[in-house]
Amino acid sequence: MDERVCVDCWRRENLTFAQRLDPAFVKPGPVHRCAIHQAGHDALHGGGDSTPQAA
Ligand SMILES: [Zn+2]
Repeated sequence: MDERVCVDCWRRENLTFAQRLDPAFVKPGPVHRCAIHQAGHDALHGGGDSTPQAA
């Protein structure tokens, strides 16, 4: 079973707005994002991730 939790969803569920802006409140462990937040993350960083996709 995949128990990974999207860090952005986790922050939304567990942190206040102010806490979400604080780097100190980062969920420990491997970073995982759901499809929605991963797309937003890619857009935010110009989509230059090291995850090449075949055409
Ligand atoms: Zn999410």
